[in-house]
Amino acid sequence: MKILYYKMRAVAVTWLLRLMPRQAPMIFKGANSSLALCEQVAVLGYQKVLIVTDNFLYTSGLLDKIISTLEENNVRFAVYDGVLPDPTFDQVQAAEKKLREENCEAIIAVGGGSVLDAAKMTAMLRTNPGDLASFTGIRPSKNAGTPLFAIPTTAGTGSEITLAAVITDPISHMKMPIGDGKLIPRYIALDAELMRTMPPSITAATGMDALTHAVESYLSKASHKASEEHAFAAIKLVFKYLLRAFDNGDDLVARDAMAQASFYAGAAFDKTSVGYVHGIAHQLGRLCGTPHGNANAMVLPEVLLAYGDCVHSKLANLAKLIGIEQTNHTEAELAQQFIQAVIDMRKQMDLPLKPQGLKESHIPDVVKEALAEAGSLYPVPRYMSKKEIADLVRPLLA
Ligand code: NAD
Repeated sequence: MKILYYKMRAVAVTWLLRLMPRQAPMIFKGANSSLALCEQVAVLGYQKVLIVTDNFLYTSGLLDKIISTLEENNVRFAVYDGVLPDPTFDQVQAAEKKLREENCEAIIAVGGGSVLDAAKMTAMLRTNPGDLASFTGIRPSKNAGTPLFAIPTTAGTGSEITLAAVITDPISHMKMPIGDGKLIPRYIALDAELMRTMPPSITAATGMDALTHAVESYLSKASHKASEEHAFAAIKLVFKYLLRAFDNGDDLVARDAMAQASFYAGAAFDKTSVGYVHGIAHQLGRLCGTPHGNANAMVLPEVLLAYGDCVHSKLANLAKLIGIEQTNHTEAELAQQFIQAVIDMRKQMDLPLKPQGLKESHIPDVVKEALAEAGSLYPVPRYMSKKEIADLVRPLLA
């Protein structure tokens, strides 16, 4: 009975994602594109903006050139730097209060997915006042948000191009996914220069997040030609450049390629949603505070393996895409080779394999919420049972 309900939800989600009106952003790319984006703010005539960021990035000096470009162009600004990883409702409310009280006409978000998501919801809350919990789910809000300029400083979430934002309810600790075409920023700068400072651990985790988006998008039942093209571009780039960016953070070619990979992976899953990897990872983030990319990396190959036969053909295509296929191998063997390539990359970057603080008593909760999240939001290649999810989660116990 539940599977029938999930199947009906998957059809509804597929069509909602296809038909949801989206604003097409203008994209600035390459060296100093974040500064070109700030000049665009002035060209558009905005006189005062709110910079949304996090305290570490703000005090590290990463935003200095952005700020001086705004000053040179006579754009006044206020700063909200209170975003924390996995932002909660109160951070969005505080940023919106500042936006309102400072009479800012637009928002410039500079940071990782947490900052971008908080800024997206700040823009939306300003023009659609109400209870943040009521935004949960996939549906268009009434009014367009405050104009938003997005400058990602990590390469993983693709939040700059997606209609999604993930905000945590501070009371229930549930991560609330919101899907609304009006959340997509109007202007984006993909400036690899701002990603150089990412330490290897964050480069690895966020890069695996991009890979997860692309792979889950391709395996989604909602996958189609346009989403596949974006997913393939992202997967190729991740396998070619993630280890390079991990080994040498100053390798701007690799950083730029990963910025693009993240963007393409975001563009892919924006049209298809994701799958059980995200369903489980969100629970690990909620219960153990595991960073999102790390949580995805902990279960990506294991979930691919658990899907079994129904994904062999697609995973075999991915083995060919990244050039590791061997002749005369069956689809099942090629699929296994792709999964092994993911495991090898995870190992080479020394990504943690177990979330800190996961307890046996958490497992029923993880299973229940992962099944509910995937069932209601993700057109997964096949539905898993409670036992299958529990079998995926139990090996993560320390
Ligand atoms: P993050 O934004 O939480 O940042 C992680 C850490 O990296 C922070 O401490 C931050 O200060 C630091 N950091 C960011 N850029 C840096 C840089 N250039 N140099 C040094 N340190 C830097 O991490 P994230 O993985 O980018 O974002 C995760 C969040 O995004 C989660 O809340 C997740 O749910 C959400 N998400 C959203 C979408 C979407 O489509 N909206 C997709 C996937 C994930």
